[in-house]
Amino acid sequence: MATQKLPPGLHRDTLAVRTGIERSQYGEHSEALYLTSGFVQPDAQTSADRFVSGRGYTYARTSNPTVTAFEQRLAALEGTEGAIGAASGMAAILMMCMGLLRAGDHVVCSRSVFGSTLNLFAKEFGKFGVETSFVSQTDLAQWRAAVKPTTKLLFAETPTNPLTEVCDIRALADIAHAAGALLAVDNCFCSPALQRPAEMGADLIIHSGTKYLDGQGRVMAGAICGPNKYIADVFGPIVRTAGMVLAPFNAWVVLKGMETLAIRMEAQSARALTVAKWLEAQPQVARVYYPGLPSHPQHELAMRQQQGVGGAVISFDVKGGSPEQLRANAFRVIDSLQVMSIATNLGDTKTIVAHPATTSHGRLTEPQRQAAGIGQGLVRVAVGLEHTDDIQADLLRGLSQVSS
Ligand SMILES: *Cc1c(COP(=O)(O)O)cnc(C)c1O
Repeated sequence: MATQKLPPGLHRDTLAVRTGIERSQYGEHSEALYLTSGFVQPDAQTSADRFVSGRGYTYARTSNPTVTAFEQRLAALEGTEGAIGAASGMAAILMMCMGLLRAGDHVVCSRSVFGSTLNLFAKEFGKFGVETSFVSQTDLAQWRAAVKPTTKLLFAETPTNPLTEVCDIRALADIAHAAGALLAVDNCFCSPALQRPAEMGADLIIHSGTKYLDGQGRVMAGAICGPNKYIADVFGPIVRTAGMVLAPFNAWVVLKGMETLAIRMEAQSARALTVAKWLEAQPQVARVYYPGLPSHPQHELAMRQQQGVGGAVISFDVKGGSPEQLRANAFRVIDSLQVMSIATNLGDTKTIVAHPATTSHGRLTEPQRQAAGIGQGLVRVAVGLEHTDDIQADLLRGLSQVSS
């Protein structure tokens, strides 16, 4: 095995295709997929040494070269010392919390984070005596006021799903650090191609590799990025013991996905901006939620934090009267699609359209949904790589039937 030595100071575009490469004796150009759960040891003493030190490969719950390559490449893109793979984005959050929290600890979390993340903090960790306060995504005073002496972690996600609310990562890092707590940021929507939370003071970065890192909707994957004092020393032993490990095949798919991440994010975000502007001009649309539009409440912050790019997810409210009418109009738009997909995912090259009120937020009561700002007329579009003329024509099929 030979690791290619890279000169220092390379750009991220270069790192995305050149890091984490350790060639076998065959000199394969594309990264090898080590589809193996165990590793043959040269002798008993080496085996014993590897089990004690954790160095060298023994068993794939501890490490696998393809997973290592994925971790090195993701860490290079996020600009963190290390990264550790997980079976899914949720498994990464579980691993992080198992590593950092114990009964009696307190977490402050945005109210607008991903639904399963909300459930994990509110329900599952509550069972183990970890208490979570949920606060406004955008009101820093609420975050500050929620901090207690037992607060160990602030958890944020930006932009959020589906309303694309943006929080100020640097300001949250300052609040966390003043309290002796850590800030973790779920960077799923922007990916390191657009937003690098570590540069803004975040301690840990969560990824659902299932979304833009893979980019073609093929496999489940997750990761935590951060300094090795957490990645190697705290989370490594957790994944080895608890087993929420990333499968080598999935790691390989996402590893290859990261090679095209930057150009996909650029192209999909450019399409999203075009479609968002077009939606804003449609008479049947009441409101468009997209950080790239000047009408977005945190537009300037988003442009500062996200390299001037809005990302590829747009939501919009169709017009209508009662919740029933709004839902009927949203369903008309969705059911008239002939090109785009009705599916539960995002970050795919194929545009995905969803109705949050009956899917991701379907289990909430109507008052809870309204408090979260998720109306029955809300439609989410995770823009892929189709031509914008075709995306717009597909949306217009249903929109043109809605009375403005
Ligand atoms: C999908 C998603 C997750 C969870 O990731 P999985 O890979 O589905 O477990 C977490 N956070 C955000 C923002 C997501 O979109």
